[in-house]
Amino acid sequence: MPFDPVHSLSKVRHEFGEHGGVNMSIEASTTYTVMAAETMPEIFQGHMGPDQGGCYLYGRHFNPTVYVLGRYLAAIEGTEAGYATSSGISAIACSIMQLCSPGDEIIASNAIYGGTFALFKEFFPQKTGITVKFVDIANLDEVKAAITDKTKAIYTESISNPTMVVADLPNLADLAHGCDAKLVVDNTFSPMLLSPAQHGADIVVHSLTKFMGGGSDIIAGGVCASKEFITELMDLHTGAIMLLGPTMDPRVAFDLSLRLPHLGLRMREHSRRAMYFAEQLESLGLDVSYPGLTSHPQHGLLASLVNDGFGFGGLFAVDLGTTERAFEFMNDLQQNEGFGFLAVSLGYFDTLMSCSASSTSSELTEEELKEAGIAPGLVRVSIGYTGTLKDRWAQFERALTRVGMI
Ligand SMILES: *Cc1c(COP(=O)(O)O)cnc(C)c1O
Repeated sequence: MPFDPVHSLSKVRHEFGEHGGVNMSIEASTTYTVMAAETMPEIFQGHMGPDQGGCYLYGRHFNPTVYVLGRYLAAIEGTEAGYATSSGISAIACSIMQLCSPGDEIIASNAIYGGTFALFKEFFPQKTGITVKFVDIANLDEVKAAITDKTKAIYTESISNPTMVVADLPNLADLAHGCDAKLVVDNTFSPMLLSPAQHGADIVVHSLTKFMGGGSDIIAGGVCASKEFITELMDLHTGAIMLLGPTMDPRVAFDLSLRLPHLGLRMREHSRRAMYFAEQLESLGLDVSYPGLTSHPQHGLLASLVNDGFGFGGLFAVDLGTTERAFEFMNDLQQNEGFGFLAVSLGYFDTLMSCSASSTSSELTEEELKEAGIAPGLVRVSIGYTGTLKDRWAQFERALTRVGMI
């Protein structure tokens, strides 16, 4: 049966508030009273965790409210377990550090979020002795050739930032598992519509800051994986989340928990609008990347992987040729048309646009930008759902006309 994240989320046991409230209570405590002193050693030995009688230890370890959010995330991705972190980048860093030791290698897509790229290229080799080989993730031969006996993980974004390259998850999972490595997928761009764990990914990471949060008001992240891996991350002696400490505040977890029930609705509308814009841009003869278009090189692949009814995502990229024209276009759209904000990030209810090469991917050198296919005039658009679609497109079209693109 095809995976349906909305159905899966609806099956999570509902957590009522302390007084029968429809929403859960916020467990805003950093420490927990035990009824008998004898219980304390058992909790510390891991015999009485949240799933074994519900005893909690300390706020940096599992928190009941954050734990519920973790269950929601796991349900959406269809994994055994999940937990939330204070940012997307910490979810990524902790997952990789949990998998790797000094001397180990990971293979990563060269078209990934700039912060992750910097973490992998600079921070990890310098500070942890974990080295990273960057590859064109769409080229499976290149991925295969990069595998050595030290490879512990293959890392990719489900749909890459900002070039919209779709990862061939089933084949990447086979390659990873063939060398006893894990496939780690950042699914920030495509929650609901794509479920990497259903196609072989072992660990799915998220920046909840984007579509999941949806309000551009909260920095947060999550990890979805096996129960074994989530438990490892929280281990008192060797757990990366527990010991590096990027735990989520329960107030934040509560806030986010109220936004996931309508994530599916939001993704549908983001996708519907992005599809419309992409089709219009293509029909005007512009160079647009959107995996929902049949002309996109991996459209067939993505179509074979997506869950039914959520479309192909809320982001597209359009190449306006030069940085100058891209800037002029974005200024005009924001200042004169009052449509969209010149801002990084994505997944907001309003439209956000940025010129990737000189912003979110500025961690890459000119050579690396070229290899990743990030052109200087490439404008990444995260399409919002405010205003009517007809008016929004008319605004976009007028701005394109004024910069001479059409
Ligand atoms: C924003 C982003 C991140 C980092 O997440 P934070 O919540 O800002 O730490 C990682 N991956 C992708 C694809 C992103 O867009």
